[in-house]
Amino acid sequence: MSQLSIRNVTKVFPGKKGLFNKVTGKTSRDFTAIENISMEIEPNTFVSIIGPSGCGKSTLLDMIAGLSPISDGEILLNGQPITGPGPDRGMVFQNYALMPWMTVEENIRFAVETVHPKLSPKAMGRKIKENIQLVGLEGAERKHPHELSGGMRQRVGIARALAIDPQMLLMDEPFGALDALTRGFLQDEIERIWEQQRKTVIMITHSIEEALLLSDRIVMMTRGPAARVDEILEVPFPRPRNRETIMQHPAYAPLKAEMESHLFRETRAVEEARIRKR
Ligand code: ADP
Ligand code: MG
Repeated sequence: MSQLSIRNVTKVFPGKKGLFNKVTGKTSRDFTAIENISMEIEPNTFVSIIGPSGCGKSTLLDMIAGLSPISDGEILLNGQPITGPGPDRGMVFQNYALMPWMTVEENIRFAVETVHPKLSPKAMGRKIKENIQLVGLEGAERKHPHELSGGMRQRVGIARALAIDPQMLLMDEPFGALDALTRGFLQDEIERIWEQQRKTVIMITHSIEEALLLSDRIVMMTRGPAARVDEILEVPFPRPRNRETIMQHPAYAPLKAEMESHLFRETRAVEEARIRKR
């Protein structure tokens, strides 16, 4: 059985009340963001979702996180329908979402306490320390988020998500706000951490190179409205990986070309539709 089953999931954002269409039964401004999306996610796999901007990637991840209701279809985690957020899924946000008044250590502690309130102080201390070490933040324990670079803030975000011991990590463009170099460093960190833990990850990204470096499978979504899964690519590079060696692999160039042409085609269609509307 898959760890996560996404079955015919559709998301309709309801329109304004008072514009009800008796024929279609819909309010006239209902917006179908994604339609009939299905995929199975196996345990201990790294899955990336890539697609044109606005196609519904965050919408899908929010439904997996239990932060946004599903309009139709179902999402099962270990066979059970997802009804809300839970400690089995750790989230990493693009804008870090740290508590600005708390130190690095306090941010992590707060998350762990919320999920595991009965943990002994000793076990709690150990868990915080382990995860701070894991992301390379030793020495920054007592700093506040405003004293940290973007890359360090996202390290806190990752440590916090991992410290609650989730079954899976959900990341929505986790490196999207970082400069290219920092982004590269953090990608390498994620690859290293993933080798150690092999937790299931679902990551949204805009970056083809990032998806190729980290993923076992890459889900390519079509443009919205009513976005679908276009194709799921298998990434065969052996692990551990690094960005130089994967480029030597015979599958690298064809996979990259396929993703580029998919993204280019879908994005061009979005742009053309926009131009026609004007
Ligand atoms: P992505 O993450 O792929 O860039 P999103 O999932 O954020 O895209 O959005 C998908 C589509 O759904 C967009 O057209 C967006 O405008 C629309 N959308 C997102 N959230 C809402 C909402 N709360 N109400 C109405 N429409 C929304
Ligand atoms: Mg998004």
